[in-house]
Amino acid sequence: MKHLFVQSNVLFNLADKLPSDGKTFGYVKVPYSSDISAYGFVAVPIAIIGNGDGPTALLMAGTHGDEYEGQIALARIARTLTPDSITGRVIIVPMANSPAANAGLRNSPIDNLNLNRIFPGDVRGMPTAMIASYIERQLMPMADIVVDLHSGGHSLRYLPCATAVYHTDASERARRIALALAFGAPSVLIQHGFEERNTTGAARRAGAVRVGTELGGAASTEKALVDLAIGGVTNTLAWSGIVSESFATPRTTPLEAIYEVKPESDYVYALSDGLFEPAVHLGDKVNEGDLAGLLHDPSCMQNYPVEARFKAKGTVVCLRALANSKRGDCLVHLAQNFQARSDGELREAQSSKWLQDNYRRNRPRISKLKPNLRKGSQ
Ligand code: ZN
Repeated sequence: MKHLFVQSNVLFNLADKLPSDGKTFGYVKVPYSSDISAYGFVAVPIAIIGNGDGPTALLMAGTHGDEYEGQIALARIARTLTPDSITGRVIIVPMANSPAANAGLRNSPIDNLNLNRIFPGDVRGMPTAMIASYIERQLMPMADIVVDLHSGGHSLRYLPCATAVYHTDASERARRIALALAFGAPSVLIQHGFEERNTTGAARRAGAVRVGTELGGAASTEKALVDLAIGGVTNTLAWSGIVSESFATPRTTPLEAIYEVKPESDYVYALSDGLFEPAVHLGDKVNEGDLAGLLHDPSCMQNYPVEARFKAKGTVVCLRALANSKRGDCLVHLAQNFQARSDGELREAQSSKWLQDNYRRNRPRISKLKPNLRKGSQ
C-alpha cells in the first residue's frame, strides 16, 4: 500500500528534484514578473507517477496550445495510472506551453514564441524559452522515451498518425520509427526539419527517443481521436515495459503505411491571397500535376480562381483547415511510401532491449547534470 498516496497542488521550482515514487499532481513554477503580477509565475501542470526501478516516460501535449486530443488524453491517463500499475516512472505534462494552451493558441500570448521551435531554450529567457530549457535540461534527461502529442491546430487537419522525425543516423532513425510503430496509430509519418529546435532534437541531446503524433486538427477534437491518443500512449508504455501488456490496445486493423514527407516537393503553398477551396480529401492518392485546390477572390468576380497543383505523386496527409489564406500559407501536403533503408536495424529497434540499455546508461548521467541545472536556474 506504500505507493497509493497521492499529493496534489505541489509546487516545483525549476531545479527541484521530482519524486520517484507515489503519485503527485502539481505545477512547475516558471518565474514571470508582469505589470499585473509582480511576483508571479507561469504554472505548468505536471503529474509524476513512480514505482521503483524502471524506465521513465515523459508524456507531453500542449506543446502547441491549440492541439487538444493529447491534452485531454494525458489528463485522463494521469487520473487513471496508479503507482502500483507501473514499473519505473511516468512524467505527464499535458499543457507544456501552458500560456498557449490556456489561451487555445499555437504560440504563447506572453512572448509569441512557438515552444517547438525554440529548444534548447534559455533559463534566463522569456517564459516559452524557460519552459523549453526546463523540459530539455531537467525532464528529458530523466526520460528514456518522450511522447509528444500533436494535431493540426487551428490551421491544419491531419490524417491521424504517429510521427517520427527523420535522422541521418540509421540506428537513431530506426529507434524513432520503432517507437512510432509501437504507438499503434493507423499509419506512421516520417517528417523532416526543425530537428535542432524541436522536442525530437531536445530528446536526442538528452539521451531519449521521441515519438510524436498528428491526430486531427482544425482546433477541434472528437472522441475517436482522444481514444486514439490514449490507446497510443498506453501501447507505448506497454512496449516500454512501464505498464503491463494488459493495458495495450490490440491493433484491429493492419498498419496502413509508413509515409515519409519530402521537404520540398510534397508541399503545396498559396502563392496569392484567396479563399481556399480544396479539391482533395485526406487520404486521397494524387498524381503530379493534379489540382490541389482553388484560391478564390470574390472581390474580383470577373477573375477565375488561381489553381494550386501538386508537384509530386503521393498521398494527401495534411490539409489547410481555414479557407481564408494568404500567400505563403501551406494549403496541402503529401507524403510518400517510406522505404526502410535497413530492415535489420528496424527489426532490432522494434525489440525494446535498447530501451532497457538506455535506461541503465541514463541513471549516472542524471546525477552529473544536476549541478549545471542549479547554477543555470538561479
Ligand atoms: Zn503541434
